[in-house]
Amino acid sequence: MSLLKPSFRRALPLIAVGLVGAGAVAAPVAGAAAAGSAKPAAPKLTASLTPKAASTGQTVTLTGKVKPAAKRTIRLEQATGKTWKRLATTTSVKKTGAFKLTLVPATVGTIKLRAAATKAGRSKALVSSTQTIMVSAAVTPPCCKTNPSPTPGSTPAPVTGPTPSPTPAPTSGPIITPSAARPSFRAIYAVASDQTPVAGKYAAITASANATNDWFATQTTGGVRPRWVRDGGGAIVVSTVRLPRPAAAYDTATFASLVSELGVAAPTPANQKTVLWFDVKSPNGCGVTGSGLSVLFEAACNIHPATSDVFPYGATYLTAHEMTHNFGAVASCAPHASGGGHVADDNRDLLYAGAGARDWANITLDPGHDDYYATGNPACPGIESSPYWTATSDPLS
Ligand SMILES: [Zn+2]
Repeated sequence: MSLLKPSFRRALPLIAVGLVGAGAVAAPVAGAAAAGSAKPAAPKLTASLTPKAASTGQTVTLTGKVKPAAKRTIRLEQATGKTWKRLATTTSVKKTGAFKLTLVPATVGTIKLRAAATKAGRSKALVSSTQTIMVSAAVTPPCCKTNPSPTPGSTPAPVTGPTPSPTPAPTSGPIITPSAARPSFRAIYAVASDQTPVAGKYAAITASANATNDWFATQTTGGVRPRWVRDGGGAIVVSTVRLPRPAAAYDTATFASLVSELGVAAPTPANQKTVLWFDVKSPNGCGVTGSGLSVLFEAACNIHPATSDVFPYGATYLTAHEMTHNFGAVASCAPHASGGGHVADDNRDLLYAGAGARDWANITLDPGHDDYYATGNPACPGIESSPYWTATSDPLS
């Protein structure tokens, strides 16, 4: 942590300014000049929380320093009503006064934390400013929050709406799959309580999923592709599922709440994963994958499946991206894993989420096969061994 570096001392007053007002400090805070002067620093306890927002089960770290530097007992405290409850205790480093405390929040909501140095000899008790963290439900892997719109701007132009089509109407209700079926993705067209199913959506989803599958076959060993639940004629089955809340509610709904509602409306068979197209916004980005469920939030980034879809246009890139997360990529052990199931080293990578623009003309499934596909590294296996790949379109093969 940079807090432990001596060079950080100069920046400390600035950090302290950012925290002013939220909590009490036992002694008057010395001016910025104190950091550079020879005078002993006024007793002070600074603390900073990383990250500022977390999901349940994620480790949150409170780092800080006590001044003057000394070995002191430091508590991590949480506001519970008007009192502060001790969660953990550590000891600051004698030479630097630095300390580090961690917490793994288990419940969703806002948590107020602070560090407190207990009274010791002539040293007064000190408390840091209050640090607030938002805790949301865990989504594994958290996905795509930072993605720019994955729709390329060049031709063929992305189609922004489903195309009316004479193809069969979507089927209703949960999918019943032959028990003999191998592990498969099921396609769901989700409809909010106040939405009307759009004619042609079935054709748009199947076309987009087929185009995505065709691209996967160009990338994989042996030309395998994701196995989908298909009908007797070999077509991908799209099931329409009505969800209980109006569309506006889903615009801000947590992913975890969607997972649980789908679990009631259309429980997932044990040998299936789900790809769900839903024309609502999302607080989490264009697409999210977790718990075996990939959701394409169509209105979030105006990305809709269409019969004209060809990779990487329309919804195909996003579908491939989320399905690859659903296969289990990118494991945190991958050499270029950058967190959240992404890599940051190569802008051609399907799961690239670095700072630069994607190389849309050359999107590749793990270029160089060094992170998550056919890496040949038994210590960090890739997704090529997943049972959800198939060499044919036969759901029983
Ligand atoms: Zn992603």
